Amino acid sequence: MRPRLVLVLGDQLSEGLSALKAADPARDIVVMAEVMAEARSVPHHPRKIVLVLAAMRKFAERLRALGWRVAYTQLDEDGNSGAITGELLRRAEGFGAAEVLATRPGEWRLTQALAGVPLVVTMLPDDRFLCPATDFADWAAGRKVLRMEHFYRRMRQRTGYLMEGDTPAGGQWNFDHENRKPAKADLLRAPPLRHEPDAVTQAVIDLVQARFADHFGTLTPFWFATDREGALRSLEHFLTHHLRDFGTYQDAMLAGDGFLHHALISPYLNIGLLSPAEVCDRVEAEWRAGRAPLNAAEGFIRQVLGWREYVRGIYDLHGPGYAEQNALGHTRALPALYWGAPTRMACLQAVVSQTRAHAYAHHIQRLMVTGNFALLAGVDPGAVHAWYLAVYADAFEWVEAPNTIGMSQFADGGVLGSKPYVSSGAYIARMSDYCRGCAYDVTAKTGEGACPFNLLYWHFLDRHRARFQPNPRMAVIYRNWDRLAPEHRAQVLTQAGGFLARLEAGEAV
Ligand code: FAD
Ligand code: SF4
Repeated sequence: MRPRLVLVLGDQLSEGLSALKAADPARDIVVMAEVMAEARSVPHHPRKIVLVLAAMRKFAERLRALGWRVAYTQLDEDGNSGAITGELLRRAEGFGAAEVLATRPGEWRLTQALAGVPLVVTMLPDDRFLCPATDFADWAAGRKVLRMEHFYRRMRQRTGYLMEGDTPAGGQWNFDHENRKPAKADLLRAPPLRHEPDAVTQAVIDLVQARFADHFGTLTPFWFATDREGALRSLEHFLTHHLRDFGTYQDAMLAGDGFLHHALISPYLNIGLLSPAEVCDRVEAEWRAGRAPLNAAEGFIRQVLGWREYVRGIYDLHGPGYAEQNALGHTRALPALYWGAPTRMACLQAVVSQTRAHAYAHHIQRLMVTGNFALLAGVDPGAVHAWYLAVYADAFEWVEAPNTIGMSQFADGGVLGSKPYVSSGAYIARMSDYCRGCAYDVTAKTGEGACPFNLLYWHFLDRHRARFQPNPRMAVIYRNWDRLAPEHRAQVLTQAGGFLARLEAGEAV
């Protein structure tokens, strides 16, 4: 019997992958390939490239130890065709194979590329999610709006997480009123678990240093886990040191601590080293054992069982082209400060430098600092999307694009959120300590030193009045704006325009 090829992509590093389950180690050959087409599809952060390539190499070794034959192509190997499809064809010829077993890629781009390969490709569903794609489609069918909250409650009922019979534990679906407090610097807060690179990871670090030196991002000291054991240790570190405070400080930001009580497990979940089910199981077990309060366990499970599954469903349902949407017609180029050019805005400076250093920023930093600024300034959402996809270690299009295009930039016209996530400087001042060290004054509404978020917030609302004023959730904001003296409003808009002109001219704003 001719062997079949079993394709395992860099974000499919799970032993239980559907393509592996459907294959026969005695007959079939696993194909894994490090290719330039993927490494350079956007200028990925060097840490992200190391994470994926080192984890791939180690996963290949694990499969071999389990009895699989693995045809693995390293990035700088002679004959590497540079693309996944090219490597499949090369291996098919080499092994005399005509059939491929694949788990559906997360990204439409690759799904389409595989569909065009002149081999018989059996595409299996990716069943590593808690909500099968068909279930999401059933839930979405016939609904006018697809709100995360409705989906989340259904998922709680379906999976039984944090349920007591038919009712949510604690009698509520959501404990947000206990969450979202600002944080203080705390020397006793445990820092992230740092994983020393082993020989395999070090070889990849050397390779990436040599081949991707031009990409934005600092590579060393590299501290991500690159195998399942390390990823599990990171999960346990979070459960032991941070889960109990996760909810309370979920939205807080500190200049001196970019990690606070966040889990730092999204890269491992997204490349398959951890599964969402095991993560939710462990968090629920901590709550049931009395080691974590309900507001923390619920806050966390909502992110994984709710948001993560929901954005995947939206991306899947929408089909190719999701990332090209631009409902607000924004066209400004991405300001150079996103790539580390100097800025006087302390919040942006902090988040961009943390991103450069670690390929990590937590949700509120992404949403309410870099995302909020790009939206207020009217940056082209495609450019914002490409930036997020490049700079974060956990960024894969199925999860990054709905968060960026949908939630953060409102470029899908309101599929993900009923109103745009925009705020003036007041929100950042309340949730962070950034403003203390800023050249601008967050309390000033106009004038030379006024916080740019204060100016741009009204500029954004004013230029999109026709779209947002009819939204009942925003009407009061417009009423407040309209109550201000006309001269004050004119001053805000003129000064916002001046700021945008300086930004456009490449000045260090
Ligand atoms: P925690 O805050 O500890 O949360 C726990 C887990 O919940 C995360 O590991 C993640 O798996 C899940 N989660 C939380 N929020 C979301 C969400 N909105 N969507 C999906 N999963 C969520 N997440 C990615 O995994 N990849 C991305 O490319 C990505 N891009 C984003 C872009 C923007 C503009 C925004 C606003 C958010 C983005 N997110 C993305 C969501 C979120 O910021 C990250 O999942 C989170 O910061 C990861 O860090 P953590 O593991 O410490 O998360
Ligand atoms: Fe950011 Fe404005 Fe605060 Fe400065 S004053 S840190 S620009 S929110």
